[in-house]
Amino acid sequence: MSQHHRVIIIGSGPAGLTAAIYTARANLAPFVIEGEPSSTSDQPGGQLMLTTEVENFPGFPEGIMGPELMMRFRDQAAKFGATFLTAKATKVEFGEKPLRVHVRDEVFTADSVIVSTGAQSLMLGLHDEERLIGHGLSTCATCDGFFFRGKEIAVVGGGDSAIEEASFLTKFASKVTLIHRRDSFRASKIMQDRALNNPKIEVRWNTAVSEIIGDDQLQGVKLLDTVTGAQSTLDIAGLFIAIGHRPNTDVFKGILDMEDSGYLITRPDSTYTNIPGVFACGDVKDHTYRQAITAAGSGCMAAIDAERWLEQQH
Ligand code: NAP
Repeated sequence: MSQHHRVIIIGSGPAGLTAAIYTARANLAPFVIEGEPSSTSDQPGGQLMLTTEVENFPGFPEGIMGPELMMRFRDQAAKFGATFLTAKATKVEFGEKPLRVHVRDEVFTADSVIVSTGAQSLMLGLHDEERLIGHGLSTCATCDGFFFRGKEIAVVGGGDSAIEEASFLTKFASKVTLIHRRDSFRASKIMQDRALNNPKIEVRWNTAVSEIIGDDQLQGVKLLDTVTGAQSTLDIAGLFIAIGHRPNTDVFKGILDMEDSGYLITRPDSTYTNIPGVFACGDVKDHTYRQAITAAGSGCMAAIDAERWLEQQH
């Protein structure tokens, strides 16, 4: 396996693979360090590997399963000459050229690097949680709300995301129970008012989800009153976990500029990071939209930025 590349892409969700398609078609022979199979974090294919049907990706009016969509992205990149390593980048050195990316004790060098390591939804850590993702349990209201038309569902969390998702889900669900572990929301006042004034939302304060019920499909949850210790059961068709996200940026700490929350910072309207030749795209730098299509769009931007930057170096 060649150790030097014009472009190394770290991460292989919609952003990384779109960057791979574009840089491959620009004859840059991208080398994609695609991540390691794992059920929760930066696995090859990204977060869509954890979903079932995707109905909002343009071009698929009949819908497509998340893993199949990502396989098609990957096949398209490979067809134009992208190569892949199924592993995680364990260390990067961006202080001098060539840029260096370590995968355990192997070192790969590159003229440019595109970072697309994505983000992961924080989970409750309950038994069965991962198994039921895509089977009644979701971390994305925009993606999956439509599947719960006329059904009773619940959202966990007390921040802006939880309230925004609960409000959005009332467009589809007959009732949304908002489950929050404390007696006040963390969310902004205006968002709180929106939820509290929505007749379809019922808030369960001081409540934690202690168990998820369902074999192949989620059927309900067991709840625990965090003050009294009382237990109850809630029958629901869907549970949305909205307790925050975490970008996969540990390996870039102290090297790439990032917000306190760990999201990478890029120059406005571009994918340039603080290091010349290093670009960032997708959810690793986007805590606002977090959609496959927006990630793919920014992957395209990163590829074009990298291609133009490489041209300028000669
Ligand atoms: P967040 O602000 O960190 O809120 C996470 C919520 O989940 C908190 O209420 C927290 O409870 C709860 N939580 C955390 N871990 C939990 C656990 N293990 N079990 C049960 N509950 C748990 O995250 P976010 O809502 O995703 O927002 C992230 C950032 O994006 C914020 O800055 C937010 O303002 C911003 N955002 C803005 C908008 C908007 O303006 N439209 C929309 C979405 C997000 P505690 O309160 O008890 O800690």
